[in-house]
Amino acid sequence: PALPGTRLSVENLGKRFGGLQALGGVSLTAEPGRITALIGPNGSGKTTLLNMICGYYRTDAGVIRVGERDITGWATHRVARAGVARTFQTPLFPAHISVREAVAAGAYTPRYVGMPSSILRLPRYRRAAAEDRAEVTAVLRMVGLEHLADAEAASLPLGTRRLLEVARALVSRPQVLLLDEIASGLDEDEVARLGELIRAIRAAGATVILVEHNFRLVLDLADTIQVLARGELIASGTPDEIENHPRVLSEYLGV
Ligand code: ADP
Repeated sequence: PALPGTRLSVENLGKRFGGLQALGGVSLTAEPGRITALIGPNGSGKTTLLNMICGYYRTDAGVIRVGERDITGWATHRVARAGVARTFQTPLFPAHISVREAVAAGAYTPRYVGMPSSILRLPRYRRAAAEDRAEVTAVLRMVGLEHLADAEAASLPLGTRRLLEVARALVSRPQVLLLDEIASGLDEDEVARLGELIRAIRAAGATVILVEHNFRLVLDLADTIQVLARGELIASGTPDEIENHPRVLSEYLGV
């Protein structure tokens, strides 16, 4: 499926937790059809940044934009409707639901039909549900899990659940996709498969933000890498530039 992306930009984003400054005025942009990786040591503010973009955390300072639209302070469901989807580090699925159901549950139906008609089950809603079914199949095909559509989601191995987690995020056809540590705990083959999927998502046009510890994977996939340390952006550039950046080497890799 085509996934036309939209630029995501944050300007001077700040966040404090009590006395701790988790983010001290971070500015960056992520472009459509590009993979923007966000790296940095533990506690550098990566998850906080994702949580602010998604509306889980209130912003103390700064502006978040999807395209021209200012989404600062929006609640999570509105951010989702504006075309931003994310995956979670630990993919959890309720017991006994199938892969297909897990993905269908990720479809943001109100985006197509609006709340009242979905509650009243008007014809428009039924049509949307049918579209969703085709959409779920298309997404399962894209992530390579079509053959497991009827399997129990929760009982799949971690690598497969990670692909499913991406499928769940993709079914709403996001313009901006935030991937949070999706490679952790996977073996080499699984990481390679995930890498291919992320490239396919980029090729489909989406704006991809990749928060990832696996530096090799980041160097391999990213178009642009943004490096955070102690809540500040300390470097940004292409994989080549970042791999040879003195401050990144000393602060992040400790060499
Ligand atoms: P990263 O994802 O890069 O490991 P985080 O964004 O999780 O970093 O954390 C950045 C800093 O903010 C850390 O010092 C962390 O302890 C703190 N922090 C994150 N979330 C909270 C919270 N909900 N309450 C208090 N402190 C938090």
